[in-house]
Amino acid sequence: MNKELYGNLIFELSKKGRKGYSLPQNDYEFHTTELPQNLCREQDAELPECDELTVVRHYTNLSHNNFGVNDGFYPLGSCTMKYNPSINEEIAALKEFAGLHPLQDTSTCQWALNIYHEVQKALAELTGLSEFTLNPCAGAHGELTGLMVIRSYHQSHNDNHRTKVIIPDSAHGTNPASAAVCGLEIVEVKSLTDGTIDLESLKEVIAAHGNEIAAMMMTNPNTVGMFEKNIPEIAQLIHDCGGLMYYDGANLNPMLGIARPGDMGFDVMHINLHKTFSTPHGGGGPGSGPVGVRQGLEPFLPTPRIVFNEEQNVFTVVRQTTNNTQQSLGSIGNFFGNFGVVLKAYAYILSLGKENIKMVGPLATLNANYIKESLKDLYELPIEGVCKHEFVFDGLKDKSTGVTTMDIAKRLLDYGYHAPTIYFPLLFHEAMMIEPTETESKETIDAFIQVMRIIAQEAKENPELVKTAPHNTPIGRVDDVLAAKQPVLTYKQIGARD
Ligand SMILES: *Cc1c(COP(=O)(O)O)cnc(C)c1O
Repeated sequence: MNKELYGNLIFELSKKGRKGYSLPQNDYEFHTTELPQNLCREQDAELPECDELTVVRHYTNLSHNNFGVNDGFYPLGSCTMKYNPSINEEIAALKEFAGLHPLQDTSTCQWALNIYHEVQKALAELTGLSEFTLNPCAGAHGELTGLMVIRSYHQSHNDNHRTKVIIPDSAHGTNPASAAVCGLEIVEVKSLTDGTIDLESLKEVIAAHGNEIAAMMMTNPNTVGMFEKNIPEIAQLIHDCGGLMYYDGANLNPMLGIARPGDMGFDVMHINLHKTFSTPHGGGGPGSGPVGVRQGLEPFLPTPRIVFNEEQNVFTVVRQTTNNTQQSLGSIGNFFGNFGVVLKAYAYILSLGKENIKMVGPLATLNANYIKESLKDLYELPIEGVCKHEFVFDGLKDKSTGVTTMDIAKRLLDYGYHAPTIYFPLLFHEAMMIEPTETESKETIDAFIQVMRIIAQEAKENPELVKTAPHNTPIGRVDDVLAAKQPVLTYKQIGARD
């Protein structure tokens, strides 16, 4: 993009008096002075003055600096960056949905409440749990809500000393963060070399903290893409000491329609609708992190809740804690969460249908294993064996080149691919976590494999080329440590007044 022509900021393109509109002659007399003087501006606002074409080019060019699933392959592990079918967007944008107000009378939006109810039921069926709330707005928000459910449950049993949460060392960072925000203490449990939970370490933790344990949080398949085979035993150990099992369902994708957390002994879970059930979610939103609970824990779910009144055949909304919801933890945000994301999930579930949804997991798993097996001669594979939807390489196999995972990630950008997740999980120094998802074709995956092989070759023959990448992107390497330590949060526009 030509920065001179299209600018960093729309303000830099401003030309005094230039307009992007023409209005008919104003035949009415307006009295701006009717506004109280203390509310009026002392000076005119400094707004950019541009013609329409300049505005369109500016923003279109800016959008080209971005990278999304619609631009190319996006193998960002743990994030499930699958294709988001356009029909989802069309459905969510229908004015019958987009025009709703969260406080309008329930008699005027029964269809929307019905969809909420349907999605709650579908998620309960897919996970083997009893009831869901769709109110949380992200995975982490779901974790917090789920942990609040667990805390409310213990408090209802006067078990106030249960303040500890067991979390594996491989867990996503939001797990310990949510536990801390919920006022709970974190107890770490170690992983074995294959990335699964070390039962001996778990038994030690239980022996040391037994009756203080509120819950154990687990991700399955875990963050290195391995299926935790010992869940029944782990669930038994935790339940025996009075704790509950929390399932981080952000990795539900490979299990859809195949295995259900509820059947494995989990009591509470969240789902990332914006991963498993499609919704564009790069760059921080919008999200939805529904929370499901097993039978018996429903009263603790947050309000507002949508309830179907069978006698009158209508949906009603329980907005505040009433007698029959007095154990509820109350509201965890505004209204009902992100309805648009719920609608997209509903469109996605219905368009796949009950049978096809069972193919999501196996195809995602096949794609991940295909990439892993095609590259493991050049990239270090620390955990052998069949993975689920994602896997982790520990950098290049040939460590003599000095080329790091960061360099490879940057070089991938030159070839038009988004980088995998890097330096997570923390179990490996040069971690590179690849998740292709089920929506990619064999041709796309083969092309990615080929590029990864070319980069390995470049690392050997011309390591400087890889170490100084990217070469073709609008911005090269940023100093992310400096950016974190001394963030510059304002932009000084060309010609700005000091
Ligand atoms: C993405 C993710 C989360 C957090 O979800 P957000 O919507 O980003 O808050 C939690 N756990 C795992 C395993 C994840 O992949």
